[in-house]
Amino acid sequence: MDGVPLYKLIMVLKYKAYAKVNIGLDVLRRREDGYHDVKMVMQTVNLFDELTMEDMSSNGIIISTNDDFIPTNEDNLIYKAAKLLMDEFHIEKGVKIDLVKNIPVAAGMAGGSTDAAATMIGINELFSLGLSKEDLMKRAVKIGADVPYCVMGGTALSEGIGEVLTPIKGMPQCLILIAKPEINVSTKFVYENLHANELKNHPDIDGLVDFIKNSDLAGIASKMENVLETVTAKEYPIIEDIKKYMKENGALNSIMSGSGPTVFGLFDDKEIAEKAYKGLVEKNITRQVFLTDLFL
Ligand code: ATP
Repeated sequence: MDGVPLYKLIMVLKYKAYAKVNIGLDVLRRREDGYHDVKMVMQTVNLFDELTMEDMSSNGIIISTNDDFIPTNEDNLIYKAAKLLMDEFHIEKGVKIDLVKNIPVAAGMAGGSTDAAATMIGINELFSLGLSKEDLMKRAVKIGADVPYCVMGGTALSEGIGEVLTPIKGMPQCLILIAKPEINVSTKFVYENLHANELKNHPDIDGLVDFIKNSDLAGIASKMENVLETVTAKEYPIIEDIKKYMKENGALNSIMSGSGPTVFGLFDDKEIAEKAYKGLVEKNITRQVFLTDLFL
């Protein structure tokens, strides 16, 4: 029996991939190359996808998920993220990744980007690549503009096309009510219809950052604004309806996240937030309603 392995060791890793909301979002200009320069405050929230990663002796990237609507082939951002690192480091083995999707898809909550970020962190550990967070963030931008932020997490000012990141300290804990209307909003449509270079009014992102640094929740709420609503909310009235509901039911403020259509409200009182959550579920506007808090 000499030299015959009786079993092989399989490494299994589990990760939580957190969603984000934009506490504020401004678009500064459309660039010559078609990309947009943004200035936004990103914040991770306690709503997450779950990734289970396992190494395989044969090569390949195998993805499974509980969500019927997202691809499991090379179009999945998980696949792209795993391939990027496995190619660069000539990994001879393979990986199996199972995704439990909890974050609304195509919602403005960076669901795909955060899965890609968790995958990069997982591949780094699974195959002992020894990359630092900064090393991963440098590579992450090749997958998408929001992926470096998702590697970093927390509260951050995001500039450039989204990849120039400055962590911000001081965001106070609070409750976040999230509702994803059952409409599909294409990010491309929103940016194409924004006409960024002609915008007259811009959110006060510097003022917002100052309030965060002072842990002033009322001040933060007063500066919450998303310039992309000028396109999306005009096209889809349900966005204004949900914002109005949240504000009338105790939210300090409520805006759309990213290019939408997800709307979130910020609350400083648990009982009021829970009442608003129940009321929104009962209204039956959409099935995707979550009450959570910040992941700081
Ligand atoms: P962002 O806030 O970065 O704009 P989003 O929330 O609008 O992201 P995603 O949830 O990332 O959008 O999904 C956008 C599209 O990407 C979906 O239509 C989906 O088919 C595809 N996709 C690829 N990989 C994933 C993934 N792991 N999770 C979700 N969607 C994915």
